[in-house]
Amino acid sequence: MLFNGVMEPFTRVEMPLPLGLGEGEVLVSLHLAAICGSDLHTYEGRRKEPVPSVLGHEGVGTVVAIGQGRKDVRIGARVTWSLVDSCGCCPYCTQYALPQKCENMYKYGHSLWTPSSAPDGCYSTHIVLRKGTKIVELPDNVDDGMAVSANCALSTMVNAVSHVKPGTRSVLIQGGGLLGLFCTALLREKEVQQVYITDIDPRRLQLASLAGATAVPAEEAGQYFRTPRLVDAVIEVAGSASLFPQGMNALRFGGSYLLVGLVHPDTRIDITGEQIVRRCINVQGVYNYAPWHLEEAVAFLARSGNSFPWGDTFSKPYALGELNEAFSEARRRTWPRVTIDCTAV
Ligand SMILES: [Zn+2]
Ligand SMILES: [Zn+2]
Repeated sequence: MLFNGVMEPFTRVEMPLPLGLGEGEVLVSLHLAAICGSDLHTYEGRRKEPVPSVLGHEGVGTVVAIGQGRKDVRIGARVTWSLVDSCGCCPYCTQYALPQKCENMYKYGHSLWTPSSAPDGCYSTHIVLRKGTKIVELPDNVDDGMAVSANCALSTMVNAVSHVKPGTRSVLIQGGGLLGLFCTALLREKEVQQVYITDIDPRRLQLASLAGATAVPAEEAGQYFRTPRLVDAVIEVAGSASLFPQGMNALRFGGSYLLVGLVHPDTRIDITGEQIVRRCINVQGVYNYAPWHLEEAVAFLARSGNSFPWGDTFSKPYALGELNEAFSEARRRTWPRVTIDCTAV
């Protein structure tokens, strides 16, 4: 299904399956995909992508063909994959542990489509994965619905939570969307005693409570997070710079502020160098994730996925052929994620 421009209808296109795979490439038949917040940013015009293109980067599927030289996957495996392909050779891949900033990186679901392109987005029946893409097989107890957002939302939060210092007892999460819910589940597993979520949406706060957080309406947060309730860490996943002063006020001296959601240009934050120095705080940006975070995400689902409120988090799947209806539903923001059945065309 081709994306043709901001708020333009998606259109269906048919092409032959790309069976002549290059070295290390893998052809996956997609089962399920999801509409991530960044897909909505693109559709609604807050970020720019070339057109036409095949959007969608959260997905699961089955391996149907493997190019020469690839040994880490098998035909018939049910899999998910890293949303960034990296070269494995540059300093970001080899020395800095930031393969998501690889000098030769390629991101799925963001490229110009031509009739000769291999399908590279998840709003498609098939996708061709490249040689440098981490592919992780899903265990039987992790179904497609649980795993569909593992390769974006969950892995990003596994990365974020890896920056939370050992001994952290209290964390404030700003934003009760899917990132905030996954963050809650990960912090609860780490036995962080107090996990708070703030949001303006009562439905999101309700889901956050189900996931195990103490839900605090955003308008009450200024009063709520005062001594002795100051937190060890704040994790921002709301994408709104206006929440920054509230997070700063909630953070104890020596605490950490992790910024995850501010991935668009309108995100100037108000802070002085003196505040960072005198309050001894650490401000850290977290962007995407590395292959090992995806492995950890799938392992986390296998260990503890059943305790997550799945039923209220993901919509019933829309057929791929109904992608326009699915985007309309996603724009109503009733569900943290709207899902797409890629086998129903
Ligand atoms: Zn995403
Ligand atoms: Zn690289």
